[in-house]
Order: sequence, then structure tokens, then C-alpha cells
Amino acid sequence: MTIDDAPRDALRGGPRELLRWVATGAAVSRADLSRLSGLSPSTVSQRVEALISQGLLEETGAGRSRGGRRPRQLAVPTGGAVVGAIDLGAHHARVGALDLSGRVVQARTLPVRIEDGPEAVLGTLLAEVATLVGGDRSASPGGAAAAEGSAAGALRGIGIGIPGPVQHATGRIVSPSRMPGWNGFDVAAFCAGRVDVPVIVDNDANLMALGAHRTAHPELDHAVYIKAGTGIGSGVISSGRLHRGAQGSAGDISHCRVVADPAPPCTCGNAGCLEAVASGAALVTALRGQGVPVSDLTGVIRLIDDGDRQATALARQAGRAVGEILAVVVNFFNPQVVAIGGRLADCEPLLASMRATLYERCLPLATQTLLIERVAAGQDVGITGAAHLVIDHVVAAA
Ligand SMILES: [Zn+2]
Repeated sequence: MTIDDAPRDALRGGPRELLRWVATGAAVSRADLSRLSGLSPSTVSQRVEALISQGLLEETGAGRSRGGRRPRQLAVPTGGAVVGAIDLGAHHARVGALDLSGRVVQARTLPVRIEDGPEAVLGTLLAEVATLVGGDRSASPGGAAAAEGSAAGALRGIGIGIPGPVQHATGRIVSPSRMPGWNGFDVAAFCAGRVDVPVIVDNDANLMALGAHRTAHPELDHAVYIKAGTGIGSGVISSGRLHRGAQGSAGDISHCRVVADPAPPCTCGNAGCLEAVASGAALVTALRGQGVPVSDLTGVIRLIDDGDRQATALARQAGRAVGEILAVVVNFFNPQVVAIGGRLADCEPLLASMRATLYERCLPLATQTLLIERVAAGQDVGITGAAHLVIDHVVAAA
């Protein structure tokens, strides 16, 4: 990374930016940080000392000498299970413990019954986080345990992804499609009553976007990530940062209208929404409507993989619908990369027709150098994004 394409912090050489330069290997010493930031060596030293005292940076061994005393080498502490992450889905949750570089130390997938309601589901998942971070420390449900806030290796925070709209400022869920009993629930307040560390809540598509961007394309400024699973949504990276908009609903394409005849009814009360045409849940409903006995998205994907004619036709139609909406987004926003993740991302007919529609409907200037790809980070992309939310928060607070 050069100084020209360095991450864009509001404040050049701010703690978050210094940390990211070290985390990405762009800097290994105070001298590197001074050169990259343009800050004086004494200012850099001051900031580095603050980060070290917070346990966010450490000095290891010795770097390469340019004559004279060999400089100590800076690193982000790795290996400690110090960030908790929960990526909640309709039927499963991925729960993890990650280190300060955003690397997964431990992770586990648990079955979830979302209809059991927020208290039961989140209570179970918080307990699982506590187990994964290696003890009951400050994450113990009930909040009775004393926080070991500043001790090395203590839990720093928990990031939670919710498969529905989240009001960013409050961490409250607002009118989710398939989460009975969750509307209006204040996830952040509920968790704050049970753990003694910061809890940051966002929607699942934003977490996927952040996780994928930080791991695959941190150098690109403008990116759109589509999450296509049971539901369908997107997360937007603008000028290198997650773009949430005024309330947190930026990127929520689920209820954008697409051309569909007949227009299937949507859970929101309208008809012909993208979610009612192209989500995994929509494919299950449509196939059942055609008399195909399929019970869930796994069954649909199996049929598509087997080349089933009806399922493949529906997947193509879904891909066209996603491509139509995405074409509007690409023409409007001009991203460098569009990546699709979620369980439908491996569905070849859907991807092919999405791509074709995108090229057909976009301005040549918008697609000339546009990368269209799959999210490569796998099942941990959501918890990785959740961890980065926490890490950014901890660094900003430091
Ligand atoms: Zn709708």
C-alpha cells in the first residue's frame, strides 16, 4: 500500500488508520507510520504508545536495521480470542471469537429457531460467545461477573448481525420480514443488560460487506455486496467505509420493485418486491406453487445443481431480477466491484443471468472495469465483519 491509496480516515494518521497500516503490513515501525501519515515522529510515537497501553498494538522482536540500533517491530496482537461475533440467520447462527486483527480463533454454527423470540435466541447466543472466548469473564450472561476490561486477553466487545433492518443509532430492529416477535426489539439494550462490554448491532448484509471488503478488497473505495440467501439485501462501501445512510437502511434492496408477471405478494404488503421474486424463500414458495415438494432453500439448491428444469428457470428469473436492481445501483453509484454472497451465490444459473442483465442495462463507462465476483470469504465472512465493527469501535474509543 502506498500513501496514495491508504485507507481514508477522517483524520489522517488517526489511531484507526495507524492500526490498519500495521494490520495490513504496510507499516512495521514508527518510522513507517511517520512516513505514511506525514506526522512527526514524536506525534506518531505518542499515538503508538497509547495504542500499546490499550493492548491494541504490541512491539515484537527487532526490525531491519539501517545502521545503528535495530528498530523494534510493531504488530497487532494475534491469537487472543478477544472479540465476540454473532451472525444470525433465519435457521442458523455463526458464532465466533476473533482476535484484534479480525482473524477467527474459534467459531461454531448453531441451529436457531428465530420464532422462539429475541430473548431466548440472543440469550443462547451470548452464552455461546462466552464459552468461545474461553470462560465466563465479562461476557457471562446475567452480567454478574466483574469485567476485566483492561487485562490482556479480556473480551473487548461483541458484534451482532441481524437478518433484518436495524436502526443504526439505537441498535433496534424495525419491521423485519421473517422475524416474528422481533419488531421494535432493542438488541443493543438487551445485550447491554447481560454483558459488560460494548455491543454493536448491524444488519447481516452490512456485516458481510464489511467482512468481504476488509479481507478481499481493502484497497478498493467503492463496492456493493449482495447477500442472497433466505432473504436478499446488500451492503455498500463508499469511500472505503460502510455507508449506512441516515437511519441505517442504505443498501436494503429487498423491497425494490422488479418486473414480474404475475407480481408475487410480499411480506411488506406490496407485490413484486425483489425479495418476493429472487430470495431463497421466494424460490421455495414458487416451486411449491408449481407442485414441486421442496421444504427449504437447501432443497432448492439441490434441484438447481441437479439441473431440474423448473428450479433452473426460477433461478434464471431470480438472477434477472437481481441484475435489474443491481443495474440501477451500479449506474447510480459506479462501484469498482460488485460481489455476491450468501447461499444463492453458488447458484450458477442465477449468477449468469444476473451478470448478463447487469451488462445489458448498465452504461459502458460503469461496467468497463467493474469486477463482478463471488464473495470468497466463506461462512465466516459475517462474523469477520462483526469483529471489524467492534475493532473499529474499540480503536476509535482509544
Ligand atoms: Zn416487499
